[in-house]
Amino acid sequence: MKVAIVGAGIVGVAIAHALLDEGHEVLLVESREPAFGPSRGNAGWIAHTDILPIASPKVLGQVPRFLADPLGPLSIRPAYLPRLLPWLARFVLASRPQAYERSITGLAALQTRALPAWLARAEKTGLTRHIHRKGGLYVFGDAGALEAARAVAKRQAGFGIKVEMIGPTDLRDLEPGLKPRFAGAAWHPDTAHISDPHQLTMALFEAALERGAVFEKAEVTNISLGERPSLVGSEGWQRVVDRVVIAAGAWAKPLAAAMGDAVPLDTERGYNVSFPDAAGPLSRPVSFEGHGFVATPLDSGFRIGGAVEFAGLEAPPNHARTRRLYDKASTLIDGLPAFESGRLWMGFRPSLPDSLPVIGTASRNRHVFYAFGHGHYGMTQSHVTADLVAALVAGRTPAIDLAPFSPTRF
Ligand SMILES: Cc1cc2nc3c(=O)[nH]c(=O)nc-3n(C[C@H](O)[C@H](O)[C@H](O)COP(=O)(O)OP(=O)(O)OC[C@H]3O[C@@H](n4cnc5c(N)ncnc54)[C@H](O)[C@@H]3O)c2cc1C
Repeated sequence: MKVAIVGAGIVGVAIAHALLDEGHEVLLVESREPAFGPSRGNAGWIAHTDILPIASPKVLGQVPRFLADPLGPLSIRPAYLPRLLPWLARFVLASRPQAYERSITGLAALQTRALPAWLARAEKTGLTRHIHRKGGLYVFGDAGALEAARAVAKRQAGFGIKVEMIGPTDLRDLEPGLKPRFAGAAWHPDTAHISDPHQLTMALFEAALERGAVFEKAEVTNISLGERPSLVGSEGWQRVVDRVVIAAGAWAKPLAAAMGDAVPLDTERGYNVSFPDAAGPLSRPVSFEGHGFVATPLDSGFRIGGAVEFAGLEAPPNHARTRRLYDKASTLIDGLPAFESGRLWMGFRPSLPDSLPVIGTASRNRHVFYAFGHGHYGMTQSHVTADLVAALVAGRTPAIDLAPFSPTRF
């Protein structure tokens, strides 16, 4: 079959490979350039150990404190608030205990399959050198937070995720570049990180082209539904195919709406600073719990980033946030390169209020499929999503229940 994928971020590129495996003819359509969006500059974690959604009873209680600080880990630009209200209302609903538990079940189903799916694809494409298996640390500043993390570790262990709670001495042995300010950490020996998100997405993109995928630069503005679906662009551009997969990240909402699904997709903008070619003071990814940022020693340089900002897809970045992240990081990590030597970046996480992506079939046409909204975990979940989409395209029952990811769940 001829299958078009709209969007050449990490999710679209991963899907291209899964479809090529099944002998389909693949057309990748991208309006900007491959790896243009968050797939270019993310933190590079294969964070398969994270099984807790952002929307939770606990986070709901913390929101007022976060919002009081416009440069804090979570902020909403006041002008954007009216547009965000429907998303926020669903976020509150998703934070209720029962909904929270449902989201954990969905998230864990994807996360626990994410690393094997990545390793399998890296092996098949000869790209294993891009995957570093040095584990990851979630560090806690005080004994109370560390104690609370034990309950999370127990849940993770219940899903078969390896985790060990360690004290300050073991933490220092693992990462001497951290300042001696931590009560301890959750140590995940299996966590992997990648060489660099841009490099790896491009390497997978090139590998897909070598395997026969065709790339076209065009903005898909609509999908017309005849006997076969047809992608529609500007100036008469049109491509008739057998199946369409919408993998357009934070920009997928209008296409899903045209396919009959009013999905509450928004963007959680994230920021980072990278120090190209700097080895950096840490040897593995570290998440600084309670501060909303992570640090990753990528092959392309040391990167510090995170934060969540709601301001839509149009507003310019506010790198005062990045400076704030850096200033905080410099109180927790020894020997950071000077801020001025860093490269600043902002990216658009494609986010649904319940922290789960949309993976499924369009309401208006059973030949159009969705794979977007992976929020904080699109790099992690790209290949497991690709396997699920390949099953949908082939008309097979996917390996996991897709009800939690349904476009009509809201
Ligand atoms: C600061 C930050 C740190 C992060 N860290 C991590 C991490 O460590 N681990 C992790 O797993 N995830 C992380 N993420 C999340 C991850 O980057 C995203 O979830 C992921 O990149 C989304 O990939 P995607 O392919 O769905 O979307 P995108 O990368 O946005 O790709 C979608 C593509 O579709 C194209 N497109 C859109 N509309 C159209 C159209 N109409 N026609 C044609 N093309 C179109 C866009 O131009 C874009 O290139 C992070 C994100 C941020 C912002």
